[in-house]
Amino acid sequence: MSLPIASLVDEVESTVRDDLRLAHEADSLPNSIRFAEQALEQAQKIGELRSVAIARRTLMFSLYRHGQKAQVSAMVTETADGLLASGLEAYCGEVLRWGGLCALDVGRMDEAISWATQSYEISERLNDDVGRVLAYSLLGGAFDRVGDPWHGEMLLKKGLHFARELGKPLPLMVTLNNLCAVMIGKYYMLRDGAGEMEARQMLHETEPLAREAADIAVAVCDPFYEAFTEGNLGEVLVHVGQLDEAKRRLDHATRLGETHQLDTVISRVRCSCAELALRLENYSETLRLVDVARGDTITVSSPSTMLRVEFVAYVAHRRLGQYREALEAFEGLRRIESEHAAQQLHARSQVMLTRLEAQESERRGLARANAVASAHAARVSVLERAAYEDELTGIANRRALDQHLMQVLQASERLARPCSLAMIDVDHFKQINDDFGHAAGDNVLQRMSRMLRSYVGDDVFVARIGGEEFVIFVDGRSAADLRPLMERVRLEISEYTWRSVAPDLKVTVSIGVASAPPYSAELLLERADFAMYRAKRSGRNRVVVGAQ
Ligand code: GH3
Ligand code: MG
Ligand code: MG
Repeated sequence: MSLPIASLVDEVESTVRDDLRLAHEADSLPNSIRFAEQALEQAQKIGELRSVAIARRTLMFSLYRHGQKAQVSAMVTETADGLLASGLEAYCGEVLRWGGLCALDVGRMDEAISWATQSYEISERLNDDVGRVLAYSLLGGAFDRVGDPWHGEMLLKKGLHFARELGKPLPLMVTLNNLCAVMIGKYYMLRDGAGEMEARQMLHETEPLAREAADIAVAVCDPFYEAFTEGNLGEVLVHVGQLDEAKRRLDHATRLGETHQLDTVISRVRCSCAELALRLENYSETLRLVDVARGDTITVSSPSTMLRVEFVAYVAHRRLGQYREALEAFEGLRRIESEHAAQQLHARSQVMLTRLEAQESERRGLARANAVASAHAARVSVLERAAYEDELTGIANRRALDQHLMQVLQASERLARPCSLAMIDVDHFKQINDDFGHAAGDNVLQRMSRMLRSYVGDDVFVARIGGEEFVIFVDGRSAADLRPLMERVRLEISEYTWRSVAPDLKVTVSIGVASAPPYSAELLLERADFAMYRAKRSGRNRVVVGAQ
């Protein structure tokens, strides 16, 4: 087995190199951990910062896969700082993410969120799309674990959208996998509550995602991910009731997990095996697996896995008429549940606390604490905003428009409500750039965004979809209704005092309008674009309404 991370072996001092290489090529994770520890010790002895940081990173990685979560999260800050100081910032993001994942499972939620946002910031700075998607994924997991799987699911679905756009197997698989985990978690929540139908629905939505992840994992060729995704899929199949395939998948995941000693994965898979045995009414096997899983739980399992184990034990003992043991399992369940709830409340109260402290310190004029707290809150929303906002102008971008149209057009079609869309393109913008400079061009785009936003009402959607192209979309109005508003927009723009940007600057726009039906985003955009080109051809600075 060689560790599937860029090893950086050649980057360390020669005396550290052998141990580090052995760590990467070790046949098992415990061996890999042992060699990485030796490499670290050696690097510390010679006191070479860069080698220390690289050895730490390898050690963290092996510990993470082996399920030593508390140790991993304890190493994050030092390792990340070391990598940063050694000019290896590109590797900081992953270290923060491994730490974040572990922190979630050991209940250090605020650290997990903070590391997720830090890793996001690094990927932003380095323009690293893969890192961005992975950070998103972690943040989604974090929301899930603080007891808000709805928010977690929403973030992960957005992450999935980016991951698909990116088209790289690893981030796509990781996102799918985390999304599945959150959705299955929601299933457990709904199943145990009142939402039986919704719970079923959740499972059926999860199955194809889990299958997709499993297919990619085979291609990625990393036993950790293969075990992980097979385990997830097996878990879904148990609950869907496809027990034969569930067994095949779970057996495969178990074999991989045992061969490579992937303790993190194994504990969850074992729990699913127990659930499978329970469904097959094989109670002795169920209880045998419960016993093994209970042994795992202290160090490697997440609270949700521990809860599932006790639930299975409770049901199995009851069916066997072993009421004393059933009661014990039930008490265990309640204990884990309340510990877990306390952890979640603690995490949430910390977020609350930072906000309260911010208010308090603001009153006292202690601006710094306030800045820290609001930066903390802001970071989370920055992640979401950045994806849907045009960087230059701050209005909605193409992605936001697509999403908006997808949501609104469906509803409008059902109600047979008219909608209309205008495409606005600046005339001779290239010339404006050439004559007045790119900065003036940018300034025009910014002012124009502000003007568009202020002329149209709040119920109108405004987006910048490309260089000097804007789209306005109105739900509930036909093209004939939109036309006068667009005429006003055109006039206001041509009469605006552009002198304030550059002397002699004049700006006009050509506008094409189209309306639904058809309730298709693609057709609407195409028709509005066509109408806009007619406006250009017939002399620019005008509005043309397209044929229906
Ligand atoms: P037409 O009237 O036919 O639309 O002519 P045009 O010059 O506006 O059309 P064209 O599409 O050829 O030129 C668009 C220009 O917009 C080209 C590009 O350099 C410029 N542009 C694209 N994005 C930006 C931006 O963010 N800032 C600035 N300043 N210019 C941009
Ligand atoms: Mg154009
Ligand atoms: Mg143009």
